[in-house]
Amino acid sequence: MSLQEIIYRFRYALSIAELSALALRPFACPLCGPSLLLRLARDSIGVRCLRCGASAITLSFAAALAAERPGYRRERVYELSSRGPLFELFRRQIPDLTYSEYFDDVAPGASRGGVQCQDVQRLTHADASFDLVTSTEVFEHVADDRRGFSEIRRVLRPGGAFIFTVPITDAERTVERAVMSEGKVQHLLPAEYHDDRIRGRGAVLVFRDYGRDIVGRLRAAGFGEARIDSRFERAFLGAGCLVVVARV
Ligand SMILES: [Zn+2]
Repeated sequence: MSLQEIIYRFRYALSIAELSALALRPFACPLCGPSLLLRLARDSIGVRCLRCGASAITLSFAAALAAERPGYRRERVYELSSRGPLFELFRRQIPDLTYSEYFDDVAPGASRGGVQCQDVQRLTHADASFDLVTSTEVFEHVADDRRGFSEIRRVLRPGGAFIFTVPITDAERTVERAVMSEGKVQHLLPAEYHDDRIRGRGAVLVFRDYGRDIVGRLRAAGFGEARIDSRFERAFLGAGCLVVVARV
């Protein structure tokens, strides 16, 4: 972790701290083992593993991944990011790991700084290249998520799985917040942005708020099975997230 990232994290921690929420508890981190769980605020990014820095979203994802796909370390895995505690864990655990980032000014398949650029709407990987594809908090930022889901389906081999997180509301139906029209973003609702490890605070547009119908979108994209794993939604001092599991 760079000094810049440590300062960023510390300032960020101070900015979100709520005194009434403060809690510290020993726990078995699904990423790094025996550790302490720190709660600074009552939401999924205010709860973190003190040792590896994983947020409650990452903790829920890692716990669900271990439960849903226990043999993943020996598989051909494709992760849609190149930084953070989960990526560092994958790099240690998985010998056959492929990873990428989306850079809007780099051609898909080309690299920057040793990291390959991929656009999930048009992956350059061959059909049936992977056993498992993973992502955390990516697809709400993909303009054409249906095409992205189809592309993930295409690069998975028979028996493969796509396990990922996105923010999912209690609503039955997904609400589109923005669409791409003739190469330009058209806002249907007030623009909402999320932080990004590479681009910084509030840098990436949220195209939609997923509802429970996300599983229907995955089935329509060719996945044989799609469901939401809620086991770890509040497993980390009350915080965490739903994890989506889709199988070919
Ligand atoms: Zn940890």
